[in-house]
Amino acid sequence: MQLFSNNLFADAKTTYENSFYVIFGVPFDGTTSFKAGARDAPSMIRAASYNFETYLPYYDLDMSEILSHDMGDLRCDCLPDLVTKQVADAVSRVQKDGKIPLMIGGEHSVTIGAVRTLAPTWYVVCDAHLDLQEEFRGSFYNHDCVTTRVSETVKNIILIGPRSGTHDEFDTARKKYYLYTTDVVQERGISSILDEVGDMIGNETVYLSIDADAIDCCMTPGLGTPEPFGLTPTDIRTVVRRLASKNVVGFDYVEVLPNDAGQTTIVAAHIIREFIAGHHAAHHR
Ligand code: MN
Ligand code: MN
Repeated sequence: MQLFSNNLFADAKTTYENSFYVIFGVPFDGTTSFKAGARDAPSMIRAASYNFETYLPYYDLDMSEILSHDMGDLRCDCLPDLVTKQVADAVSRVQKDGKIPLMIGGEHSVTIGAVRTLAPTWYVVCDAHLDLQEEFRGSFYNHDCVTTRVSETVKNIILIGPRSGTHDEFDTARKKYYLYTTDVVQERGISSILDEVGDMIGNETVYLSIDADAIDCCMTPGLGTPEPFGLTPTDIRTVVRRLASKNVVGFDYVEVLPNDAGQTTIVAAHIIREFIAGHHAAHHR
């Protein structure tokens, strides 16, 4: 029996050397524009991860069977370009060791360094926002510029759930990327969209980024930039379940601001587990 608890992600008990999945937190929220506090999310999401049974009936799988490791939190520098470099270095180590990095934000800008290192063929993001600013409030690494920075590394970008952005951002998204706004998801249903997305991606490498504000803020209000009329937690779970079976080289869950009654962190913890279990079920058994 285990006598001592720790504050790492639940069931991430494998050593780094023996693990397939490597979790780490990036407690950074230096460029947040509306409400700050996403830096507190990694520890709160880890705490929430202890709420669940280790058994997942959907996969007939116990989380304790999966070889996952939690490295803890990155000790973040104070500027987003420096954090981008730190994340890139951390992800580079994990990638060279043949493991899959799973990052818990922090704000969305932490995604940039991971994508630069992994350079996947596809980038799929669930987000209320397009994040297509060239520069915002003095930084190219603002959390409102993530998709623009990612597009410098990745050609094929799929946006699921946007419902907020400038006219210019929407023009760019419509012209250059695969855009499935929340309205489109609600009209067509998430499954039909994921059929299409799955066919496009095929067996090519993909990075999956979940910005927590893709979900309707009336369901999960713990967000730095909340938007109503969004996707549901079940939509996000469907995205993660369907894409986890793909050739995913990196995953993140970002932009949680744990200032609510715990809904947003509990959904985040659950979705991170869904990704790990789904990827394991598809690739390791
Ligand atoms: Mn975002
Ligand atoms: Mn967002």
